[in-house]
Amino acid sequence: MIDRFDFDQTQPLLLLIEFTVLSLLRIDGWLRPTMNDSRWTRLILWSGDYLSLIRSFTGWIFYSPRCSVGSRSSSLSIDPHYIRGELTKAECPMLALEELRENLYRIVVPLPDSPLKEINSYTLTSKDRNLVIDTGMNRPECREVLEQGLAEIGLDLGRTDFVATHLHADHQGLISTLMRAGSRAYMGAADTPAFRQGPADTWSRDGFMGSYGSRSGFPEKDLEASMQNHPGFKYSSGAGVDFVALEEGDRFDVGDYHLEVIHTPGHTAGHICLFERDQGILFSGDHVLGDITPNIATWSDDGDPLADYLASLRKVKPLEVALCLPGHRTPVADFQGRVEALIEHHRERADEVFDILTNGPGNAYDIAGQMTWSIRARCWEEFPVMQRWFATGEAIAHLRFLEGEGRVNRLDGDDEIVFSA
Ligand SMILES: [Zn+2]
Repeated sequence: MIDRFDFDQTQPLLLLIEFTVLSLLRIDGWLRPTMNDSRWTRLILWSGDYLSLIRSFTGWIFYSPRCSVGSRSSSLSIDPHYIRGELTKAECPMLALEELRENLYRIVVPLPDSPLKEINSYTLTSKDRNLVIDTGMNRPECREVLEQGLAEIGLDLGRTDFVATHLHADHQGLISTLMRAGSRAYMGAADTPAFRQGPADTWSRDGFMGSYGSRSGFPEKDLEASMQNHPGFKYSSGAGVDFVALEEGDRFDVGDYHLEVIHTPGHTAGHICLFERDQGILFSGDHVLGDITPNIATWSDDGDPLADYLASLRKVKPLEVALCLPGHRTPVADFQGRVEALIEHHRERADEVFDILTNGPGNAYDIAGQMTWSIRARCWEEFPVMQRWFATGEAIAHLRFLEGEGRVNRLDGDDEIVFSA
């Protein structure tokens, strides 16, 4: 339904028609300047239509980068960072604002330095209260685009509430900035405690993630950097946001939109999707993404996030989804096909991890280094620190899943956790 690179050629086409009509009129004797006309009249008559010809051709060049999405093109704007040359075309989300349906908007917020490239912030408006679903990171590049988009919509932040589909910084980062007195912020119940944890609990190298990473073989020399550069540490919402915990079945009513909360643990323990059942619109957060696969990772021996994720995929699969609006990239075209493909993808990944282990036991970091990743680097050691961190977390989730299936054993030492087939 939506093609982000569909160029808006309507405007230059209209100008070309204007030129053709003027030319035909001139052939017929109309508007043809005569020697009786003054020099200025002749100049105006001749220049008017040639100007439209020039405008129509230059229009194709200058209007082309203005992407048209869906049926609307008039309210679209280009990312200001792209205009100022601060982002390359490849990095640029191009389109900042799009009206998907009446009173339903998508603002594409850039995520600099992130392989995700951008995040979708959705806004639902009504004459009573408005709702913003996900916001982007707490950093100026995101804030500028989101605020510009919300201003273009004409959103009154004083009448606006916020939902983060899950606790990751790219989803909740700007909530503390945008909230006004009377605004409420919501997040899945299982994610709120993690958000409330103090920085020392989470982001020191001795915190639960750092120490589990260390026991999983993550290099000591990179531990500090992966904690300090973690987006959750750098770009989360400011302290003091008291998120209201959402449970399965909670509802939001915004004008004609009636959203149900569906708890979909996996990407995070408290991840939620929002489903507008009558219109078949699913706000899928990072649960179902179209052209990238959600990262399923863990830093703990508690639970089995990959098993949870697969169960959550099966949970949403029967929903009658006409429009799936994900947290990143373009809307998901074939919802059920995509859900199937994601289940298959993680099954294959688990098999890959199992095959690696048949060559001998190893810790999660070693195994992550032997898995296939779609990243431009010559070897595992050349992956950026954060990408090695996320990859190791993903390896742990797959190892824990295989352990749950009884296919691998975990040897839990004080200093190292080793898995064997
Ligand atoms: Zn996420």
